[in-house]
Amino acid sequence: MVPFAYAAATSATAAIARVTRGPGVEFIAGGTDMLQLLQERIREPNELIDINRLPLATIEAGPAGARIGALARMADVADDPGIREHFPAVAEALLASASPQVRNMASIGGNLLQRTRCLYFRDVTTACNRREPGSGCAAQDGENRLHAILGGSPYCIAVYPGDLAVALVALDAEVHISGTAGERALPVDRLHRSPGDTPHVETALEPGDLITAVTIPASAHARRSHYLKVRGRASFEFALASAAVALDVEGGTIRAARVAVGGVATTPWRLRHVEEALVSRPLQPDVVYAAAARAAEGAEPRERNAFKVALLPRTVERALRTVGGLS
Ligand code: SF4
Repeated sequence: MVPFAYAAATSATAAIARVTRGPGVEFIAGGTDMLQLLQERIREPNELIDINRLPLATIEAGPAGARIGALARMADVADDPGIREHFPAVAEALLASASPQVRNMASIGGNLLQRTRCLYFRDVTTACNRREPGSGCAAQDGENRLHAILGGSPYCIAVYPGDLAVALVALDAEVHISGTAGERALPVDRLHRSPGDTPHVETALEPGDLITAVTIPASAHARRSHYLKVRGRASFEFALASAAVALDVEGGTIRAARVAVGGVATTPWRLRHVEEALVSRPLQPDVVYAAAARAAEGAEPRERNAFKVALLPRTVERALRTVGGLS
Protein backbone atom coordinates (compact mmCIF):
# COMPACT_ATOMS: atom_id res chain seq x y z
CA MET A 1 0.00 0.00 0.00
CA VAL A 2 1.31 3.42 -0.96
CA PRO A 3 1.24 6.04 1.87
CA PHE A 4 -1.48 8.67 1.65
CA ALA A 5 -2.70 11.67 3.64
CA TYR A 6 -5.94 11.50 5.60
CA ALA A 7 -8.41 14.18 6.64
CA ALA A 8 -11.88 14.03 8.20
CA ALA A 9 -14.45 16.30 6.55
CA THR A 10 -16.76 18.37 8.75
CA SER A 11 -19.15 19.45 5.99
CA ALA A 12 -20.19 18.23 2.56
CA THR A 13 -19.12 21.52 1.03
CA ALA A 14 -15.64 21.24 2.54
CA ALA A 15 -15.33 17.61 1.46
CA ILE A 16 -16.29 18.40 -2.13
CA ALA A 17 -13.92 21.38 -2.24
CA ARG A 18 -11.08 19.21 -1.00
CA VAL A 19 -11.69 16.39 -3.48
CA THR A 20 -11.87 18.79 -6.43
CA ARG A 21 -8.45 20.25 -5.63
CA GLY A 22 -6.90 17.76 -8.00
CA PRO A 23 -6.62 14.11 -9.00
CA GLY A 24 -5.61 11.70 -6.31
CA VAL A 25 -7.96 13.02 -3.60
CA GLU A 26 -10.90 10.70 -2.92
CA PHE A 27 -13.77 10.20 -0.49
CA ILE A 28 -13.80 7.28 1.91
CA ALA A 29 -16.76 6.10 4.01
CA GLY A 30 -17.07 2.47 5.15
CA GLY A 31 -13.89 1.68 3.26
CA THR A 32 -14.69 -2.01 2.75
CA ASP A 33 -14.01 -1.93 -1.01
CA MET A 34 -11.45 0.87 -0.86
CA LEU A 35 -9.14 -0.96 1.54
CA GLN A 36 -8.92 -3.98 -0.75
CA LEU A 37 -8.18 -1.73 -3.71
CA LEU A 38 -5.47 0.06 -1.73
CA GLN A 39 -3.90 -3.21 -0.64
CA GLU A 40 -3.94 -4.50 -4.21
CA ARG A 41 -2.48 -1.16 -5.39
CA ILE A 42 -5.33 -0.69 -7.85
CA ARG A 43 -6.05 2.70 -6.31
CA GLU A 44 -3.21 4.87 -5.12
CA PRO A 45 -4.72 8.13 -3.84
CA ASN A 46 -2.62 10.95 -2.44
CA GLU A 47 -5.25 11.80 0.14
CA LEU A 48 -8.44 10.27 1.49
CA ILE A 49 -11.25 12.49 2.77
CA ASP A 50 -13.20 10.68 5.46
CA ILE A 51 -16.87 11.64 5.16
CA ASN A 52 -18.17 9.50 8.02
CA ARG A 53 -18.86 12.53 10.26
CA LEU A 54 -21.27 14.11 7.78
CA PRO A 55 -24.95 13.91 8.83
CA LEU A 56 -25.97 11.59 6.01
CA ALA A 57 -26.99 8.38 7.79
CA THR A 58 -30.71 8.94 8.36
CA ILE A 59 -33.20 6.31 7.16
CA GLU A 60 -36.82 7.33 6.63
CA ALA A 61 -39.07 4.70 5.08
CA GLY A 62 -42.82 4.25 5.10
CA PRO A 63 -45.96 4.29 2.96
CA ALA A 64 -44.97 7.65 1.41
CA GLY A 65 -41.59 6.43 0.14
CA ALA A 66 -38.04 6.09 1.39
CA ARG A 67 -35.08 8.40 1.82
CA ILE A 68 -31.84 6.67 2.79
CA GLY A 69 -28.79 8.72 3.69
CA ALA A 70 -25.71 7.72 1.73
CA LEU A 71 -23.80 7.00 4.95
CA ALA A 72 -26.45 4.68 6.37
CA ARG A 73 -24.90 1.28 6.90
CA MET A 74 -26.14 -1.67 4.85
CA ALA A 75 -27.11 -3.60 7.99
CA ASP A 76 -29.20 -0.73 9.36
CA VAL A 77 -31.09 -0.31 6.09
CA ALA A 78 -31.72 -4.05 5.80
CA ASP A 79 -33.10 -4.08 9.36
CA ASP A 80 -35.28 -0.98 9.01
CA PRO A 81 -38.96 -1.93 9.51
CA GLY A 82 -40.16 0.58 6.90
CA ILE A 83 -37.76 -0.77 4.30
CA ARG A 84 -38.70 -4.36 5.06
CA GLU A 85 -42.43 -3.66 4.83
CA HIS A 86 -42.62 -1.27 1.90
CA PHE A 87 -39.50 -2.16 -0.11
CA PRO A 88 -38.73 -5.80 0.71
CA ALA A 89 -36.54 -6.31 -2.38
CA VAL A 90 -34.14 -3.68 -1.02
CA ALA A 91 -33.80 -5.43 2.33
CA GLU A 92 -33.38 -8.80 0.63
CA ALA A 93 -30.73 -7.47 -1.76
CA LEU A 94 -28.75 -6.01 1.13
CA LEU A 95 -28.94 -9.21 3.16
CA ALA A 96 -27.74 -11.19 0.13
CA SER A 97 -24.93 -8.74 -0.56
CA ALA A 98 -22.19 -9.35 1.91
CA SER A 99 -21.11 -10.90 5.17
CA PRO A 100 -22.62 -9.44 8.38
CA GLN A 101 -19.25 -7.84 9.17
CA VAL A 102 -19.19 -6.01 5.84
CA ARG A 103 -22.85 -4.99 6.13
CA ASN A 104 -22.07 -3.38 9.49
CA MET A 105 -19.29 -1.29 7.97
CA ALA A 106 -20.27 -0.57 4.38
CA SER A 107 -22.27 2.53 3.47
CA ILE A 108 -25.12 2.68 0.97
CA GLY A 109 -23.28 5.20 -1.21
CA GLY A 110 -20.13 3.11 -1.21
CA ASN A 111 -22.09 -0.02 -2.01
CA LEU A 112 -23.50 1.59 -5.15
CA LEU A 113 -20.01 2.58 -6.27
CA GLN A 114 -18.18 -0.67 -5.58
CA ARG A 115 -15.71 -1.64 -8.27
CA THR A 116 -15.81 -4.72 -10.44
CA ARG A 117 -14.68 -8.11 -9.18
CA CYS A 118 -13.16 -9.06 -12.53
CA LEU A 119 -10.07 -11.02 -11.53
CA TYR A 120 -7.97 -9.27 -14.18
CA PHE A 121 -9.00 -5.84 -12.88
CA ARG A 122 -7.76 -6.95 -9.46
CA ASP A 123 -4.47 -8.29 -10.83
CA VAL A 124 -2.19 -5.41 -11.81
CA THR A 125 0.05 -7.73 -13.88
CA THR A 126 -2.68 -8.33 -16.51
CA ALA A 127 -4.22 -6.28 -19.34
CA CYS A 128 -7.35 -4.41 -18.26
CA ASN A 129 -8.86 -1.41 -20.03
CA ARG A 130 -10.89 -0.52 -16.97
CA ARG A 131 -7.84 -0.26 -14.73
CA GLU A 132 -5.40 0.95 -17.39
CA PRO A 133 -7.11 2.42 -20.49
CA GLY A 134 -5.77 1.08 -23.77
CA SER A 135 -4.04 -1.95 -22.25
CA GLY A 136 -6.56 -4.52 -23.54
CA CYS A 137 -9.07 -6.86 -21.94
CA ALA A 138 -7.68 -10.16 -20.77
CA ALA A 139 -11.16 -11.48 -20.03
CA GLN A 140 -12.36 -11.53 -23.65
CA ASP A 141 -10.49 -14.77 -24.38
CA GLY A 142 -9.59 -15.63 -20.83
CA GLU A 143 -11.40 -16.79 -17.70
CA ASN A 144 -14.79 -15.22 -18.40
CA ARG A 145 -17.20 -17.59 -16.64
CA LEU A 146 -18.37 -14.82 -14.31
CA HIS A 147 -18.52 -12.09 -16.93
CA ALA A 148 -21.38 -10.28 -18.62
CA ILE A 149 -23.65 -11.59 -21.35
CA LEU A 150 -25.47 -8.25 -21.63
CA GLY A 151 -24.04 -4.76 -22.14
CA GLY A 152 -20.47 -5.78 -22.87
CA SER A 153 -18.14 -4.40 -25.53
CA PRO A 154 -14.85 -5.47 -27.11
CA TYR A 155 -13.21 -3.25 -24.48
CA CYS A 156 -14.77 -4.71 -21.34
CA ILE A 157 -17.24 -7.40 -20.25
CA ALA A 158 -17.01 -6.99 -16.50
CA VAL A 159 -20.19 -7.61 -14.54
CA TYR A 160 -21.52 -4.91 -12.25
CA PRO A 161 -21.04 -6.70 -8.94
CA GLY A 162 -23.66 -5.14 -6.66
CA ASP A 163 -27.07 -6.33 -5.51
CA LEU A 164 -28.60 -3.20 -4.00
CA ALA A 165 -28.46 -1.20 -7.23
CA VAL A 166 -30.38 -3.93 -9.05
CA ALA A 167 -33.25 -3.66 -6.56
CA LEU A 168 -33.12 0.15 -6.71
CA VAL A 169 -33.27 0.16 -10.51
CA ALA A 170 -36.33 -2.10 -10.39
CA LEU A 171 -38.04 0.28 -7.97
CA ASP A 172 -37.29 3.51 -9.90
CA ALA A 173 -35.02 4.90 -7.19
CA GLU A 174 -32.92 8.05 -7.55
CA VAL A 175 -29.54 9.04 -6.16
CA HIS A 176 -29.13 12.56 -4.84
CA ILE A 177 -25.81 14.19 -5.53
CA SER A 178 -23.98 17.24 -4.22
CA GLY A 179 -21.29 18.62 -6.47
CA THR A 180 -19.50 21.74 -7.48
CA ALA A 181 -22.54 22.77 -9.56
CA GLY A 182 -24.97 22.25 -6.66
CA GLU A 183 -27.53 19.54 -5.97
CA ARG A 184 -29.11 17.19 -8.48
CA ALA A 185 -30.96 13.89 -8.66
CA LEU A 186 -30.30 11.05 -11.05
CA PRO A 187 -32.22 7.80 -11.62
CA VAL A 188 -30.13 4.90 -10.32
CA ASP A 189 -30.79 3.41 -13.76
CA ARG A 190 -28.47 6.10 -15.19
CA LEU A 191 -25.78 6.10 -12.50
CA HIS A 192 -23.69 3.27 -13.95
CA ARG A 193 -22.34 3.41 -17.50
CA SER A 194 -22.00 0.57 -19.97
CA PRO A 195 -18.32 0.18 -20.86
CA GLY A 196 -18.40 1.05 -24.58
CA ASP A 197 -14.87 2.10 -25.55
CA THR A 198 -14.25 3.88 -22.23
CA PRO A 199 -14.74 1.23 -19.54
CA HIS A 200 -12.64 3.24 -17.08
CA VAL A 201 -15.51 5.78 -16.92
CA GLU A 202 -17.80 3.71 -14.72
CA THR A 203 -20.48 6.16 -13.60
CA ALA A 204 -22.21 9.39 -14.53
CA LEU A 205 -20.61 11.14 -11.55
CA GLU A 206 -18.42 14.20 -12.17
CA PRO A 207 -15.21 14.90 -10.24
CA GLY A 208 -16.15 16.00 -6.73
CA ASP A 209 -19.68 14.59 -6.86
CA LEU A 210 -20.80 13.22 -3.52
CA ILE A 211 -23.82 10.90 -3.28
CA THR A 212 -25.84 12.18 -0.32
CA ALA A 213 -28.99 10.03 -0.39
CA VAL A 214 -31.13 7.52 -2.23
CA THR A 215 -34.88 7.97 -2.56
CA ILE A 216 -37.41 5.32 -3.55
CA PRO A 217 -40.95 6.27 -4.56
CA ALA A 218 -43.82 4.49 -2.87
CA SER A 219 -45.85 2.12 -5.03
CA ALA A 220 -48.06 -0.90 -4.74
CA HIS A 221 -45.55 -2.98 -6.69
CA ALA A 222 -42.65 -1.95 -4.42
CA ARG A 223 -44.54 -3.44 -1.47
CA ARG A 224 -44.79 -6.69 -3.41
CA SER A 225 -41.16 -6.95 -4.48
CA HIS A 226 -38.52 -9.62 -4.15
CA TYR A 227 -34.79 -10.09 -4.78
CA LEU A 228 -33.43 -13.49 -5.74
CA LYS A 229 -29.70 -14.13 -5.98
CA VAL A 230 -28.27 -17.28 -7.54
CA ARG A 231 -24.65 -17.94 -6.64
CA GLY A 232 -22.11 -20.69 -6.60
CA ARG A 233 -22.42 -21.25 -2.85
CA ALA A 234 -24.96 -20.07 -0.31
CA SER A 235 -22.48 -18.14 1.87
CA PHE A 236 -21.12 -14.76 0.83
CA GLU A 237 -20.59 -14.81 -2.92
CA PHE A 238 -21.22 -12.61 -5.93
CA ALA A 239 -24.21 -13.41 -8.16
CA LEU A 240 -24.11 -15.69 -11.16
CA ALA A 241 -27.52 -14.21 -11.88
CA SER A 242 -29.97 -12.23 -9.80
CA ALA A 243 -33.41 -10.73 -10.28
CA ALA A 244 -35.26 -7.92 -8.56
CA VAL A 245 -38.94 -8.13 -9.41
CA ALA A 246 -42.07 -6.29 -8.33
CA LEU A 247 -45.72 -6.83 -9.20
CA ASP A 248 -48.93 -4.96 -8.63
CA VAL A 249 -51.83 -7.36 -9.14
CA GLU A 250 -55.53 -6.58 -8.96
CA GLY A 251 -58.30 -9.07 -9.59
CA GLY A 252 -55.76 -11.59 -10.88
CA THR A 253 -54.43 -9.18 -13.53
CA ILE A 254 -50.93 -7.69 -13.45
CA ARG A 255 -51.29 -3.90 -13.34
CA ALA A 256 -47.60 -3.05 -13.03
CA ALA A 257 -44.38 -5.05 -13.25
CA ARG A 258 -40.73 -4.27 -12.65
CA VAL A 259 -37.84 -6.59 -13.54
CA ALA A 260 -34.13 -5.81 -13.20
CA VAL A 261 -31.27 -8.29 -13.21
CA GLY A 262 -27.72 -8.54 -11.91
CA GLY A 263 -24.74 -10.85 -12.24
CA VAL A 264 -25.18 -10.99 -16.00
CA ALA A 265 -24.70 -7.42 -17.26
CA THR A 266 -22.17 -4.62 -17.12
CA THR A 267 -24.63 -2.41 -15.24
CA PRO A 268 -27.75 -3.06 -13.16
CA TRP A 269 -30.00 -4.12 -16.04
CA ARG A 270 -33.68 -3.30 -16.39
CA LEU A 271 -35.70 -5.68 -18.57
CA ARG A 272 -38.51 -3.44 -19.83
CA HIS A 273 -39.53 -5.88 -22.55
CA VAL A 274 -40.11 -8.55 -19.91
CA GLU A 275 -42.17 -6.07 -17.90
CA GLU A 276 -44.28 -5.27 -20.97
CA ALA A 277 -44.88 -8.99 -21.51
CA LEU A 278 -46.44 -9.16 -18.03
CA VAL A 279 -48.55 -6.01 -17.77
CA SER A 280 -52.31 -6.32 -18.37
CA ARG A 281 -52.05 -10.10 -18.45
CA PRO A 282 -53.34 -12.61 -15.92
CA LEU A 283 -50.95 -13.66 -13.19
CA GLN A 284 -50.58 -17.25 -14.31
CA PRO A 285 -47.62 -19.63 -14.65
CA ASP A 286 -47.69 -19.67 -18.45
CA VAL A 287 -47.66 -15.86 -18.64
CA VAL A 288 -44.76 -15.65 -16.21
CA TYR A 289 -42.86 -18.38 -18.05
CA ALA A 290 -43.31 -16.71 -21.45
CA ALA A 291 -42.23 -13.30 -20.14
CA ALA A 292 -39.20 -14.67 -18.26
CA ALA A 293 -38.16 -16.66 -21.34
CA ARG A 294 -37.31 -13.33 -22.99
CA ALA A 295 -34.91 -12.26 -20.23
CA ALA A 296 -31.72 -13.15 -22.11
CA GLU A 297 -32.73 -11.66 -25.46
CA GLY A 298 -29.75 -9.94 -27.02
CA ALA A 299 -27.24 -11.84 -24.88
CA GLU A 300 -23.69 -12.19 -26.18
CA PRO A 301 -22.09 -14.99 -24.18
CA ARG A 302 -18.36 -15.68 -24.27
CA GLU A 303 -16.68 -19.06 -24.27
CA ARG A 304 -17.22 -19.89 -20.58
CA ASN A 305 -20.39 -18.08 -19.59
CA ALA A 306 -23.03 -19.41 -22.02
CA PHE A 307 -24.70 -21.11 -19.04
CA LYS A 308 -25.98 -17.68 -17.98
CA VAL A 309 -28.20 -17.52 -21.07
CA ALA A 310 -30.20 -20.43 -19.63
CA LEU A 311 -29.79 -19.44 -15.98
CA LEU A 312 -31.11 -15.90 -16.36
CA PRO A 313 -34.68 -16.72 -17.56
CA ARG A 314 -34.98 -19.37 -14.88
CA THR A 315 -33.88 -16.89 -12.22
CA VAL A 316 -36.39 -14.28 -13.40
CA GLU A 317 -39.18 -16.85 -13.58
CA ARG A 318 -38.47 -18.14 -10.10
CA ALA A 319 -38.43 -14.63 -8.64
CA LEU A 320 -41.70 -13.75 -10.37
CA ARG A 321 -43.37 -16.97 -9.23
CA THR A 322 -42.29 -16.27 -5.65
CA VAL A 323 -43.56 -12.70 -5.60
CA GLY A 324 -46.72 -13.74 -7.43
CA GLY A 325 -47.48 -16.57 -5.00
CA LEU A 326 -47.23 -19.16 -7.78
CA SER A 327 -44.50 -21.29 -6.24
FE1 SF4 B 1 -10.65 -5.23 -17.32
FE2 SF4 B 1 -13.21 -5.21 -17.99
FE3 SF4 B 1 -11.59 -6.75 -19.33
FE4 SF4 B 1 -12.10 -7.32 -16.77
S1 SF4 B 1 -13.56 -7.39 -18.42
S2 SF4 B 1 -10.11 -7.36 -17.81
S3 SF4 B 1 -12.40 -5.26 -15.93
S4 SF4 B 1 -11.48 -4.51 -19.24
